[in-house]
Amino acid sequence: MLLLDGKKISLEIKKELKKEVDELYIKTGKRPGLAVLIVGENKASKIYVNAKVKACEEVGINSFHYEFPDNISEIELLAALDLLNEKEEINGILVQLPLPKNINEENIINRINPKKDVDCFTPENLGRMFLNEEKAIKSCTPSGILELLRRNKVVFLGKKVVILGRSNIVGKPLAIMMINEGATVTVCNSKTKDLQDICKTADILIVAIGKERFIKKEMIKKDAIIVDVGINRVEGKIYGDVDFQDVLSKVSLITPVPGGVGPMTIAMLLKNSVELFKNM
Ligand code: NAP
Repeated sequence: MLLLDGKKISLEIKKELKKEVDELYIKTGKRPGLAVLIVGENKASKIYVNAKVKACEEVGINSFHYEFPDNISEIELLAALDLLNEKEEINGILVQLPLPKNINEENIINRINPKKDVDCFTPENLGRMFLNEEKAIKSCTPSGILELLRRNKVVFLGKKVVILGRSNIVGKPLAIMMINEGATVTVCNSKTKDLQDICKTADILIVAIGKERFIKKEMIKKDAIIVDVGINRVEGKIYGDVDFQDVLSKVSLITPVPGGVGPMTIAMLLKNSVELFKNM
């Protein structure tokens, strides 16, 4: 068994990005700028946002961090986005999801200027990714997964990929990206019948359901590659959606949680910020 070490690979990517950002600064006198917006008191979201701000500093991207109270109105949040859409020093805008119930997520996402849409939330950028356009910005978590696998010499062409979860930020874009890579893809959801049989067909099993240690060894094929996207907090400890200890002896490659997909998501956020800056 080999570990798909997202922490190590993300450090490599950050090193490459720092070099590129420094060169861009010498050429243009400017640095990419990323705005991260957080609404409300979600503790987990705050941890993610702080990690993103710190990562920006590490590679020389300017970060702008905006916190809004739970009771901000949708109109006020839209107005804040309008200002950020106009600001020249900001190339990327990320709205940390989920948003409080009183705010319509779709309205907020649709207000982000697609040219600054750093996590590929908008219909325009999702369409470009769907069409596999060369310059398309790609959703951070799925592109982080592909990059982690690629840098571990995993080939997608002809592989049977099973994805558990069909969210707009992980499962769905990941399925499209895997299809574009030539994999044969099955996407499962909470109502899928015969889940175990489907999982057992997977050369690459990617799990993004938010259910602590759900995948056990009897659900996977021998020598399968396992990517665990889940982040589940239980009594102060973090677990993935896969029972790591249980499956370990049966897999060929596996991501740890933490230290697998999480750091790769942040690395791709930085990469997208640099791409948006170059495309301005
Ligand atoms: P989400 O929006 O809650 O969606 C969960 C998906 O899992 C839904 O499509 C749901 O099906 C499906 N599902 C639930 N139980 C299932 C089951 N027993 N079998 C098959 N499918 C099942 O989740 P998300 O935002 O994609 O996040 C998923 C997990 O990944 C969470 O733990 C989240 O914290 C983590 N995450 C990690 C990162 C990272 O960077 N590491 C990034 C994003 C998310 P239905 O559609 O039928 O309800």
